[in-house]
Parts: sequence; C-alpha cells; structure tokens
Amino acid sequence: MALFLFNTLSGKKEAFKPLHDSSVKFFVCGQTVYDDAHIGHAKAYIDFDVIIRWLRNSGYSVKYVQNITDVDDKIIIRAKETGIQPMELARHYEKRFMEDMEAIGVKQGVDEYPRSHDFIEEIRQQIQLLLDKGYAYIIEGDVYFDVKKFKDYTKLSHMKIEELEKHRIEPKEGKKNVYDFALWKMAKEGEPSWKISVKSNGKAVELNGRPGWHIEDTAMTWKIFGEQYDIHGGARELVFPHHSNEIAQAEAAFGKKPFVKYWLHCGVLTVDGVKMSKSLKNFITIRDVLKMYDAEVLRLLILSTHYRKAVDYTEELAKAANKKLNAMYEALSSFYSMKVSATAQEGDRDLLLKSKQYIEEFADSMDNDFNTPLALSKLTAFLGYMRAFAESNGSVGSKARDAAFDAVDRTANRVLGILMKEEYKRGASHDVESLIAQREAARKTKDFKKADEIRKTLKERYNVILEDTDTGVKWHRA
Ligand SMILES: [Zn+2]
Repeated sequence: MALFLFNTLSGKKEAFKPLHDSSVKFFVCGQTVYDDAHIGHAKAYIDFDVIIRWLRNSGYSVKYVQNITDVDDKIIIRAKETGIQPMELARHYEKRFMEDMEAIGVKQGVDEYPRSHDFIEEIRQQIQLLLDKGYAYIIEGDVYFDVKKFKDYTKLSHMKIEELEKHRIEPKEGKKNVYDFALWKMAKEGEPSWKISVKSNGKAVELNGRPGWHIEDTAMTWKIFGEQYDIHGGARELVFPHHSNEIAQAEAAFGKKPFVKYWLHCGVLTVDGVKMSKSLKNFITIRDVLKMYDAEVLRLLILSTHYRKAVDYTEELAKAANKKLNAMYEALSSFYSMKVSATAQEGDRDLLLKSKQYIEEFADSMDNDFNTPLALSKLTAFLGYMRAFAESNGSVGSKARDAAFDAVDRTANRVLGILMKEEYKRGASHDVESLIAQREAARKTKDFKKADEIRKTLKERYNVILEDTDTGVKWHRA
C-alpha cells in the first residue's frame, strides 16, 4: 500500500508524493522557550516524531527542521517578571527543552533546531520583497501585511474572510484591515531589538524593532529548504492565523504555489477535559510526568490516539498506559525465556508466518494517515500471540525466534519508539532492581518511611509485590 495522508490544505486524504524524488523537506512549528514544555507539547512532538520515523522507515530521505522561537512577547513578559535578560531566559528554557525532547525520544530525529534571532537578515529580505510587491506597508516603525491583497488567504483555514475579524487581532491605528498582521514590530523600551533598513516607495527607511512571530518560520525555511517544500506540521490551533499567515507571506513574496504541498495538523491535549493553563493549576510539564512514569508510557499514551484527534489526559489514562506497557514487556519476557533450539521446531512455521503478517498489517495501518492506534492494536495482538506461543510451545527455533524479535524491532522500537529497554531479558527491569536495592538501604538505616514509599512506588509503577523473607527480599508481579 502506498502512503496516504490527510492534507489540511485540500481537506482530504491524498496519496503522498514528494516534490522531488524521495527526499522530503519537513518543518514543524517548534517551541517558544519561555517556560518548561508541557504534555500538550509532548503530544505534538511525539506525533510528528512518529510520522518522521515512518517516512524514513518507508525509504524517504527526510530533512526534519523544527524552529526555536527565542524572540517573542511571551519571553519578554516572562523576562520582565523574573528580572532575567530575555535571551538568557530563552537559552535557559531551550536547554531544558532539549533535555525533555531527548528524554522522550524526539530530539534524536530532528536534523536542525534553528533559532529565530539568527534569521534577521532573511526576515529583512522577505519584508523587502513584500514591500516591493505591494503586500506590505509601514505604519510608524511597524510593518504590516495587507491581507486583502492576498486572494488565497483563507485556503488553509477554509474560513470566510468576514469570520477573520472575530479572531486574534493586533490593534494598531492606521491599519488597512483589522486582520492585517505584523511582519515587524517597533522596539519598545527594554526589549531585544535589531536595526534593519528597507526601501519603501523609493525611500530608505530605518526600522528598529523585532520580527513578528509568523515571519520567522518562512525566513528559516526559505534559507534551509528554498521557496517551496513538502510538509509543514503543527498543532491544529496554528492553522489560523499562524499557518495562514505563513502561506500569505511566502506565496506573496516568492510567487510560487503551493508554498507547502502538505499541511498536517495534530489534535490538542486537554487535562481532565479542560485546556491546560497555569491559572487552573492543571499545567503538567513533561518533567512532572517523567517523575512518575517512564517516557515510553507517555509515548504509548499519546500514540494510542490518532494524531489528528484530541487526547484528554487523566491520571487513569496514564496508569492504564503504564499497565499496558508492563504487559507488553511481560509478553516479550516470557517469549525471551523460551528454550532456543538451533534446529527448526514444531511451531516455527506459524511463528514465521505471523511475524511477516504482523509487519504488513502494521505497515498498512501506518500508511493510512499514520494510524498509530490501529498499528498498536496489531502490536498488542502480535505480543499476545508471542506470549501464548511461549506458554504452549516447549522450545523455539532460533531463526523463527529472531524473526519475531525483528518484527518487534522494526515496528515498536524503530517506529513507535517503545519497548526499547532490554532489561526484560533479565526478568526484572533495571529500575525495579535499583529500587529494591534503595529500599534495602533505607531499611538498614531504619528509614522505614522511605522504604514504604519505595514499596508503594514498586507496586504502582511496576506492579511489583515485595515479600520480606529470612533469606532476603523476594518479589513477583501482581
Ligand atoms: Zn510556527
């Protein structure tokens, strides 16, 4: 089966065909680094990580770029609150963001993380092109994009132009249309700013300020990819105005259509049914989750829903994902502990066949607009088969055994980024062993409170029950 993906631009599922051969230029809107990343960010980045992995797995050579917004109102506001310089604040949160992305297995697949402040010259050039072509105008030190001049403005959002007036508007006296957006903003006291010079109506104009949010993406992709590229991804809420503005800027400036061939948008993440916000105190960072659960639990939780759909995060959902992941490892563990024979065994033929079938079913699921919940159900069924196989067969031939593990590697490990830990081969996970050792140490120093906490953690996180015997501590899974 060929790969089909849902393109927001056409509003349809389309067969995927890159602009040039098998190389794919892929851009995803990245982080504005003013605070720690939350699990809503994790959803978007994990969704796109798996999409990228699948494209690479399918033989495409993908260049994956994700921007870092380090010039932005939110950063400036936060910097004022904390008394730290905006750039220093941005670098601090960027570093933490990279640590988070590495921990959840995303950073490893990103080729480049360009920062907005490094593209001021490309931004200036783009503003100049838009001024020359009559799409941009200057009011005092601000530069705006004249939305009415760009006829295709609503082709991505499929909205009516009148509807736009109700949405996020940047107020400014003298704007031609209320929904015109800023390409450049004049510097205010104490804000990071750059001096650029442009020509408008034959006159040189000095502008001291900073870029608007939307233009950094088109400046970066222009420099890195060129005037057109294959796929742009982001959260659904970015369709309008952010991505609509990107299309307007790029197509108006360069004259090439479409600016991006495929637009992919992922669903949002809510917590207990409501949008995350600091004021509601339901703001869960990636770091918070990783204190409780393994990164694979978070990946499994997110990938259990199709990327275009919304996820409602609850504690129960996280616990269920944790339990499910444990059961998957259990299946691998029991299959792993089977007696291995160099010669073919009775059940091998069926095992070989099932392994091959499973890989095909997994591929079909992913080729259908990256249907990870379906792919996961195929994985679960295959692991269930492996477990039953171990229970009903005395031994397995090494060739068939390798084929089954290879099937898991090619799907769960390389595409979904789960079941990567090899501890199951030892019967107990490394984490379990180290927690048991920590509890023993706590008991020796009579820190029974800590020992009890560890016992609780072992039960909740790993489903492990401890038994203190005369010969030492024994454990089993509940
Ligand atoms: Zn963006």
